[in-house]
Order: sequence, then structure tokens, then C-alpha cells
Amino acid sequence: MRKFIIMGIQGSGKGTQAKLLAVDLELEHVSVGDIVRWNAQHHTKLGAQVKRIMATGHLVGDDLVESVVRDRLAEHDWNYGFIIDGFPRTARQAEFFLETYDIDGVINLDLPDEEVSRRVLSRRLCAECGLDYNLMAHRPRREDTFDVCHGALEARVDDHPEALAVRLAEYHEETKPLIEIFERKEFVATIDATLPVEEVQDSIREQFSLPLRTR
Ligand SMILES: [Zn+2]
Repeated sequence: MRKFIIMGIQGSGKGTQAKLLAVDLELEHVSVGDIVRWNAQHHTKLGAQVKRIMATGHLVGDDLVESVVRDRLAEHDWNYGFIIDGFPRTARQAEFFLETYDIDGVINLDLPDEEVSRRVLSRRLCAECGLDYNLMAHRPRREDTFDVCHGALEARVDDHPEALAVRLAEYHEETKPLIEIFERKEFVATIDATLPVEEVQDSIREQFSLPLRTR
């Protein structure tokens, strides 16, 4: 059985890397963000709780996240292991989690702040059809217009430099103590996330002596 924690700031490709690893090695991908979003969309009791918190402008608390993870892992459907994303968030959670679950290691996707900015600030959303778009990957024929449906390409309201600077600072502040705990107790593999998706995946597998990609 294989049990991993994956860390990385937004734009680091964390979700993509976790999914690639999970699908291939039959691990359960436990994404706290996905679970919370699913509950909000399906109007569950948890979803209602989350919406109440968000409506007051607060982030979902550490205790709530912890109970979400506990309930999810209690399902015991992870016969070959899991890769968890979005947890632990505090030093206390990290200590407890490492003692409870005999984690194989921590994948730490490293992306310099300038690169995070470059990636995040070039994200657009089509106002017409809702498609995600990235100006780094595609250049629209007409500026700020989606080639397919001709909708306006807009940045998300919180994807501007000031908000991003706050998120970056918060991320580093929250992550630093966690990484220190992990480094003391587990193997942390810091991976260069500026590389293309496939190379990042290969590098994760090399670090943990996992089977290499066959496709
Ligand atoms: Zn569109």
C-alpha cells in the first residue's frame, strides 16, 4: 500500500499530478477541495455548513477539513493506498496524521513565485461558455475573445496581482512549518514544477522508486 501527501501552490499542477499518479497506481485521490465543492453542489448537510462559512467571508476551518478527511478515509476504499491533497493544514493535524497513517512520503511541488504569477495571471474564463483558458497556452485570434464561441475572455475576480500576492504570502506562511514537520518525520521530495507535466510526473516516480509511466 502507498500513501502520499501532495503539496503545491495553485498553478503548480498539483491536481493534475495527483490524478496521473492515482489513476496509474490505483490510489484514491483524496482532494479536500473536490470533496468540499461536491458537497456544496449537491446541497448536502456539509455543503450547507460550508456555504454558511463562505458567506461570512471566512475560509473553511481546520476542524471541518479534518472531519471531512477523517470521514473520507474511514470509507476504507483505498485498497492500494491514497494520495491526499489539501490536508494536513496545521502542525497539529500534521503530527496526528503522520502518526495515524504511516505515510510513505510527501510530494512537494516547487514553483517560484514569479512563475505562479505568470501562470495564474494569464488564466481567463470565457464569459459565454465558461471554458477555462490560459493565454500562455493559446493566443486568441482576436484579443480577449474566445475563438470558438466569441465570448469575452475574462480574468477571475481574485486573479489580480494584489490578491495573488496575499495568497502567495499565506501559502508560504502556512506551508513552512508543515514542511519542517514532514522533513523531520518523513521523506519530502521537492520537485521542480516548472517542468512539463510528464517530466514532473517522471520525477515524482523516480524520487519514490515508483513504477515508471508505461504510456
Ligand atoms: Zn465561450
